[in-house]
Amino acid sequence: MENAQVACDKCGAELIPSAAYCEKCGARTRRARRLVRLAIRVELVFFLGVVLMVAGFVWVYAIQH
Ligand SMILES: [Zn+2]
Repeated sequence: MENAQVACDKCGAELIPSAAYCEKCGARTRRARRLVRLAIRVELVFFLGVVLMVAGFVWVYAIQH
């Protein structure tokens, strides 16, 4: 488990615990960057699932006609 980030990577300002952004320069904290990457991954998996489902329905429809 990664320790909580206490200072901004960009400007070195002190961060409030569990902050997503630096209050001074607006840079994203490491924790927020990781969450964004996770969200993108979840979105991609969800999108892939929808695409596969649509493709499956189209395929079933195509072999019935
Ligand atoms: Zn900063």
